[in-house]
Amino acid sequence: MDSGSLSAPCKRLEGKVAIITGGASGIGAAAVQLFHDNGAKVVIADVQDKLGQALANKLASEAVCYIHCDVSNENAIIDLVDATVTKYGKLDIMYNNAGIMDRNFGSILDTPKSDLERLLMINTVGGFLGAKHAAKVMVPQQKGCILFTASACTEIGGLCSPAYGVSKYGILGLVKNLAAELGQYGIRVNCVSPYGLVTGMSGNKGVDPAIIEAKLSEMGNLRGQILKAEGIANAALYLASDDASYVSGQNLVVDGGFSSVNPTIM
Ligand code: NAD
Repeated sequence: MDSGSLSAPCKRLEGKVAIITGGASGIGAAAVQLFHDNGAKVVIADVQDKLGQALANKLASEAVCYIHCDVSNENAIIDLVDATVTKYGKLDIMYNNAGIMDRNFGSILDTPKSDLERLLMINTVGGFLGAKHAAKVMVPQQKGCILFTASACTEIGGLCSPAYGVSKYGILGLVKNLAAELGQYGIRVNCVSPYGLVTGMSGNKGVDPAIIEAKLSEMGNLRGQILKAEGIANAALYLASDDASYVSGQNLVVDGGFSSVNPTIM
């Protein structure tokens, strides 16, 4: 599609093949549903086999399947990409979304090196490996779209632990440099940066998700609105679709304006 033409009201990913890592839960699961509804064939990649398989079963379509894949394991990523191309013939969209938070949201003073290493291996190296092996398929295709989920904690301090922040800043470095390297092959690279939604990651700390949502709805400059995983999936759908055919190297922050608000007026 020409970058200046308006998109027709249609399934926006018709005919495309997508891998969504971390697709069993939260943002990834919402993206699986939305990409599927928009005509894509979708491979759900995750380590939570029961959840991932249940989502594939629920969608009950030849166009969706679940594959176990630990994104920090390069051989598992190679197998994932191979299995996708064998089953669906190509790979158009690699959405590197899988991620973890550190166990105790720790201060640098008591963050063990092993926690930092684990965050980097899954959040950053996992994204690097996903992009690397997707690019090996996309470069000969001369087209493709690589997406990441980073975090609005890259915009403003104090929203996360230093270790998690490092792991997500690494994604922004990947986005810029991959967009520069892979653009010549027709491959676009972008990321979505959320803040403030209750998912498996953030909502499972023994606190009632309704209490967290009530707190979050007080934040940002879109007060009263609650960000759902579908809100992030919609942003990913835009970036994955031909509507964004001239968009590359960008970080789309979806946080209700939170990171733009002057803290003295909150
Ligand atoms: P979630 O916990 O619901 O989903 C994360 C998924 O990643 C889970 O299904 C999990 O099993 C999977 N995963 C974890 N380790 C994996 C591994 N090694 N290999 C493959 N899959 C693995 O949480 P979510 O909020 O949907 O998180 C999705 C992404 O959004 C993450 O990258 C997270 O860092 C990012 N994020 C979330 C928020 C938020 O407020 N929830 C904010 C900013 C960024």
